[in-house]
Amino acid sequence: MPFYEFICPVCNSRAEVFVRSVNSTVTAPACTTEGCEGPMRRAVSRFMRHLTEMDKLAEAEAKWGKQVDDVMGPSPDIGRYARRYDALAKDLPPPEQPIHE
Ligand SMILES: [Zn+2]
Repeated sequence: MPFYEFICPVCNSRAEVFVRSVNSTVTAPACTTEGCEGPMRRAVSRFMRHLTEMDKLAEAEAKWGKQVDDVMGPSPDIGRYARRYDALAKDLPPPEQPIHE
């Protein structure tokens, strides 16, 4: 289940929002501190940091893929790439499984 964390830049209070779908629109909650009118902003949750690491890994793979393409020519071994991605993804939970923090 997607998990969003918000932080108030004025008083540093935090709020967590869970949404049913990744595609749901998430609106920032109001700051819960009495008298504070700080606009809450998205904070980077542990879950999102994890995704960021995966993005970095994908970027690195893309860079290596480019270098490999330069060496191997326009017909890279797609099956080899697919097996490599499978190996990288083996420790990830299946998509249906909720991710607990
Ligand atoms: Zn606040």
